[in-house]
This record gives sequence, C-alpha cells and structure tokens, in this order.
Amino acid sequence: MEYSESIIYGNKTEKVTCQRCGANEHKVNGIIKYAYFLLAFISFYPVKKTVQLECTGCLQLTEEDELSQPLIQEFKKSLFSFYVIATKFIGLFLLLAMLGFWYADIRQENQQTELYLVAPKVDDFYFLDYRLMADNLRPNEKYRLAKVVDITGDVISVVYSSAIYSRASLLTSSIKSGQILAGKFFSAKRYDFTLDNLKSLRNDKAILKIKRPIDHWLYGILITKPASSRNTNTVELGPRHNNIGLAFQEATYLKDNFKSAFNEFLLSAEHDYAYGKYNLANSYLSGKYQGKNGKPNVEKALYWFKQASFHPNKSAIEKYTILCRKIDSCDIGKFYQELLDAGVNLQLN
Ligand SMILES: [Zn+2]
Repeated sequence: MEYSESIIYGNKTEKVTCQRCGANEHKVNGIIKYAYFLLAFISFYPVKKTVQLECTGCLQLTEEDELSQPLIQEFKKSLFSFYVIATKFIGLFLLLAMLGFWYADIRQENQQTELYLVAPKVDDFYFLDYRLMADNLRPNEKYRLAKVVDITGDVISVVYSSAIYSRASLLTSSIKSGQILAGKFFSAKRYDFTLDNLKSLRNDKAILKIKRPIDHWLYGILITKPASSRNTNTVELGPRHNNIGLAFQEATYLKDNFKSAFNEFLLSAEHDYAYGKYNLANSYLSGKYQGKNGKPNVEKALYWFKQASFHPNKSAIEKYTILCRKIDSCDIGKFYQELLDAGVNLQLN
C-alpha cells in the first residue's frame, strides 16, 4: 500500500484570529490521508483526517495542533461527512465487488462441472490434474486435457492430449489458441471410464473442471463441424442419406427429428454405407427414434455395428466390443473370428 492525500474545501469561519495579520476570517480545509494500491486516485481506505485553517487575508496556515479540541471536533463534523468518508473506501468496495464476481464465476463453473460429470456428452473436455492419475511423470508434467469421443451405455471413452502441461492455465490456452484442432493434438488411443470412475476422479480432484462446447463453440473456437458440412460434395446415396440423418439428429427443434434421422440412416445402411450402418446402430442403441421414452434395441444395435465392422469401420468395432463385453450371450471371440474370416485387419488400433 502507498499513501496519498486529498483536500476538502469547507466553509469559512470567524472563530479564529490570525497570528500574523490579525484577520478573523479563515477558510476551513480538511485533509484526508488515504491508502491506495497501484492507482493513486482510487483510495482504498482513509488513514488519517486532519483540519487546517487558511487566513483569507494573508494565506497563513494554522495547523490542527494550534486549535482547541472543541473547535477541531466542530470543524471535522462539518468537513468529513459520511458521504465524503464513504468515497474513500471506493477501492476496497471495487475490490470486494471484483472478488464477488470472480467467486460467482468459479461457483458457476463448479456447478456446471458437477452437471456435466453425471451426464457426459461427446466433445466434453476434461481438465485433469494428471499427477493424480499416473505415476512416473516428469517433474514438469502435471496437467492434461481429455476429450470424450464416445459414450456407449455407461462406458465413456476419452482420448488424452499428447502433451502433459506444467501449468493448469495451459489447458485453457490450448483450446483458446485452436491448438486442439490440430490432427495430432489428441492421441489416438481411447481410454474407457465408467460414470463411477469419473465421479471418484472428481472426488480425488483429478478432474479439475469439465467444459462443454455450446453449439460446437468453446472459448470462441469451433470444436466440431456441424454435420451438414460433411461430405457435401458427394452425390452418392449412402453418404447423402447419412448426412441428412446427421442433420436431422442435430435439429432437435424439429418434431420427431430422431425418427427422421433413423429413417435416413436406414436408407443409408441399405445403400451399404458404413457410417450409415454405424449411425443406424447408434439410433437403435439410444432408442430415441421411438420418441422420448424409446427403449434401446441392443440386439439390432449389435447387428448393425457388426455390419459396419466388416467394411471395416474402426468405431463400429470398438462399439461392438464395448457392448458385447456387457452381454453374457455375446461371444466377442466369435466376432473377432468372423472379422478375421472376412479379411478385416484387427490391428486397426
Ligand atoms: Zn492572516
């Protein structure tokens, strides 16, 4: 803290006689010494209030220690009103207001993180204190970004940023700068978590926060391209129906949009298009095409993931694997054998 002074010009008084010229009239001035931080004109709080008289005849100054206590009190009362003193706390007031906003921001971010944690979505970004998740890190390897790339049932698949950062703030800047859009920003390998895994990571403070793009935008960066812009230059029917399906899927403002999407994926799949089959399987898995309370049809989902797997389609193979492992009657070994028999190279990963 540094200190400065401001002067308050009060009324005139005739209660004191000038020692030098004998005149009776004096101007009554108040001096407030105040503490400030960085900006000298923004007072944080007053430190000392003094009274000073100035002779109107000869400009002689009379300091407070030459005045009687009752007079000092009287002058102070008229000079230092509540309002005048209150303005000397303006810096403190501003600081508290800023802390308040900052705290409200942090609180909102925390509340959002709790919400996103229990209902994950593809393209959610996890800010991780990776020291709590891995051993054998180098001293400056501390923070890592993860992105949700797939959700199948209660299995959440994420990919990690290739880099592990020394400061948490670098996670935010990697998004803001658009680095995350680079092809190799995230490693290809997927890691699967259950909701309970994620919750305990949050409890352990390994998940610092979760950010979700709104309409594909996060920190002013377009995270994924809207479906309608994919493959627009192709006129093939398989891709075309698939694209229309993806567009319907996103158009949640339309009535029965999931049903319309489903029908398009079905057409795309019938035209032997891998992504159409894959999306059709996802539709069966979500059950949303049957309306709000639609039930998943896991059997049909498995069937279409398998059909897409033969193309081959890596995402479909991964989804089939995740789903199959949770179903007793599903034989994953048989699935892999069928893929091998069809000439699919299982080293796709
Ligand atoms: Zn005088």
